[in-house]
Amino acid sequence: MNPDNFLRDACEDVFCSMKNIILLLASTCLFACRQNNADLIIKNAHIYTVNPQFDTAQVLVVKGGKFIAVGGDRLLQQYQADSVIDAKGQFIYPGFMDAHCHFTGYAKDKYKLPLFGTKSFDDIVGMVVKYAKTNQRIWIEGRGWDQNDWVQKDFPVKDTLDLLFPNTPVFLMRIDGHAILCNQKALDLAKIDLNTKVAGGEVQIKNGKLSGMLFDNAVDIVKKILPGRTDAETMHDFADAEKDCVSLGLTSLVDCGISYSTCKILQQAYQVNKLSIRNTVMLSDEKENYDAFLSKKPYRDDKLHIAGFKVYADGALGSRGAHLLEEYSDQHQHFGYMLTPADSMKKIAEKIFPTGYQLCTHAIGDAANREVLNIYASVLKQKNDRRWRIEHAQVLNENDFHLFGDYNIIPSVQPTHATSDMYWATDRIGKTRIKNAYAYQKLLQQNGWLPLGTDFPVEYLNPLYTFYAAVFRKDKKSFPENGFETANALSRMDALRGMTIWAARSVFEENMKGSIEVNKLADFVLLPVDLMKADAQTIYNTKVTATYIDGKLIYRSPE
Ligand SMILES: [Zn+2]
Repeated sequence: MNPDNFLRDACEDVFCSMKNIILLLASTCLFACRQNNADLIIKNAHIYTVNPQFDTAQVLVVKGGKFIAVGGDRLLQQYQADSVIDAKGQFIYPGFMDAHCHFTGYAKDKYKLPLFGTKSFDDIVGMVVKYAKTNQRIWIEGRGWDQNDWVQKDFPVKDTLDLLFPNTPVFLMRIDGHAILCNQKALDLAKIDLNTKVAGGEVQIKNGKLSGMLFDNAVDIVKKILPGRTDAETMHDFADAEKDCVSLGLTSLVDCGISYSTCKILQQAYQVNKLSIRNTVMLSDEKENYDAFLSKKPYRDDKLHIAGFKVYADGALGSRGAHLLEEYSDQHQHFGYMLTPADSMKKIAEKIFPTGYQLCTHAIGDAANREVLNIYASVLKQKNDRRWRIEHAQVLNENDFHLFGDYNIIPSVQPTHATSDMYWATDRIGKTRIKNAYAYQKLLQQNGWLPLGTDFPVEYLNPLYTFYAAVFRKDKKSFPENGFETANALSRMDALRGMTIWAARSVFEENMKGSIEVNKLADFVLLPVDLMKADAQTIYNTKVTATYIDGKLIYRSPE
């Protein structure tokens, strides 16, 4: 090689690499100068976005309470933030939403004696006696018992309570809220005697005496005279209940059947920033609510949405109040009953139809579901986007499923009901009807989407139990081994959609939340577990690592 040429080549090489370095520096600087500011970046995560393609991502970027970018590692070059969190390979999901629960009811019950999971009525008596020693209130109020958990499965009678508490009124609510046991003192204060008759309810008489058990509309007579809480106490109860929700990854709720007075306190709680969780209210079927809200457009901001009205068609299956087309398999000539007569329901539907409100009707039995489907169909008339809902849609007649799809009626279901009721549901309705009960897969097929909830406090509020029950159809002890009526199980993907984007869609909120997509509210939850792959028991036992609302950390596990 000619040494001159060598020298020239060497110089060109040096020049070339210097040029490259300068270019590289320039482009890095350009990138750095172009980096956008954000409030929060989470990296090294496995993010299930739950967007329409069910894409996954590794990085999310939040600004002003919304997602501004979701994608791969290259986002780390494009964005900078004061807070950058390494998720260390953990899993991120959109904030969970409960499409049917009783948040304010749960909150307002928190001070009452919890009677969940008792093994006998004697257990309850023991708990009440202990509670009475420290109870400062005039009434003893308990909640959550279920005679189906006992060896002796008959409803209890009040005699022991009368002996122990002749002068203190006692009010003990069954787990479903559709039945109570009261002592004589409570019945006296409520002016209930052997002659009391209640439409859509029952004052039970056994051997010619009041048993103390009251059902459905009869419960309200006593409820009305219970001593209330102050507004400040109630707001405190709300905030307390929110802590329970966010610790389980819940960032949004649909709060079903809110009275006018409760709604006022809830609005006040949001005005003074007492609550972070998002609440979509379904108002209760009462005149005060219709008078106050129906002439106005549904109220809506980022946190509070007053979306519709909740009506009860019938009672519950556990207490045999659900209205069936054929008699109960375990009670001859008993069909349950409607709580709201069909003509009244039709009037309500016609009143709501011209407004922007949704109608949500509780229907458990196949007769109640048929009635509601037909009323909705007659008012809606055709396919539509009104998203009127049937809450629970628990027992359906084979011939009625198609009405959900024909009129775009949305079944709003609670998968843990299936696994809580499975021990006795077949006794109530028999082997044929059970095939079309808790039929979530069949219901999903009608509209192609299905919102999921818990109905808490009827069930426990953990949304992961919803996922577990929907997918595996088992109880916490993995019973039954092969799952309960698994033809109606949901896929993991659909279960996750049901508790996020479809729950949002069920109240017209799918454009603002329910998935991790740009411009949506930055509500999300961090879990150590891959819900798309983990085994059933791991999912059941999963604890939330962190919960974010508006991109702000609202809960972090104590580790
Ligand atoms: Zn409910």
